[in-house]
Amino acid sequence: MAKIFLDPGHGGNDTGATGNGLLEKNLVLDIAKRIQRQLTVYSDAEVQLSRESDIFLSLSERTTIANTWGADIFVSIHVNASGQTGFESFIWNGNVSSVTQSYQDIIHAAIMTQIGGIDRGKKRANFAVLRTSQMPAILTENLFIDRAEDAAKLKSNQFLERVAQGHTNGLAEVFGWEQGNSGAPAQPEPEPEPISDPTPQTPTGTISTIQSTLNSRYGLNIAVDNIFGPETKQALILGLQTELNTQFNAGLAVDGIWGPQTRGGIVNVQRGAEGNITWILQAILHIRGHSPEYIDGIFGPLTEAAVRSFQRDAGIIVDGIAGVQTFTSLFG
Ligand SMILES: [Zn+2]
Repeated sequence: MAKIFLDPGHGGNDTGATGNGLLEKNLVLDIAKRIQRQLTVYSDAEVQLSRESDIFLSLSERTTIANTWGADIFVSIHVNASGQTGFESFIWNGNVSSVTQSYQDIIHAAIMTQIGGIDRGKKRANFAVLRTSQMPAILTENLFIDRAEDAAKLKSNQFLERVAQGHTNGLAEVFGWEQGNSGAPAQPEPEPEPISDPTPQTPTGTISTIQSTLNSRYGLNIAVDNIFGPETKQALILGLQTELNTQFNAGLAVDGIWGPQTRGGIVNVQRGAEGNITWILQAILHIRGHSPEYIDGIFGPLTEAAVRSFQRDAGIIVDGIAGVQTFTSLFG
């Protein structure tokens, strides 16, 4: 078991950096919560946030909480400003252990792998949270809020999910967690998607079952005729938009139309996910002839295999992760 302390910077009347309609305090809290959610697949990760809402905490309060808790690592999450572009990370410029340096190497690389773009380098600075943490501490500066191209990325839920995934993957490597391995049985819940329909499973769901579930879950009245036509497709997209709005505050128009706005709101859905977005993915995979066998809202090996099979057929990247490209091929 490792204790992971996530510190979303700023909060309350300290907005942090601002630009392009964005506030650093909100972005970093969003990223921290995504990391927290992603880490639930690792049973050896115990996670605490310095703040879970928009409140002010002094720098010393943040490290005091982490020190008292006995965290194994302190990860402070920030977004940069000053009109530059790209990602950089910091550790203390004082006397840090080689362990801290290796953690920075691993986490920095894992984040760059996920987000790409400009790598501004692994840096060192005399930041209070790095200096006063009694455990290895790293601070990430995730792009520049006042740079238009960076801000555009930071407005995408999909990109924020990747920023988080970079942190998550880095932490998993640092602590040697293996997802779904015998060493660390995965808790299948990277996304807290609420399953609003308590009906347990729809074995080998027919299109009729999908249609009637869409009607009851989203208050629709589409024909239950076991035929996949424009109406059923629209209902699935409408369900997806509803879920993205509810779960990720995507702010999408719920119109059942697949367009650039909905594409922009798509999040990565992958092994371990559970809930209504996974259910919609399974339903459309089934309809598209790549059935995951169970349409039960649980993204297990069969769903992953179905995603891969569809991706191969569609000629897109075969990674078993349903992201914007896969959803676009399924619905576009
Ligand atoms: Zn900051």
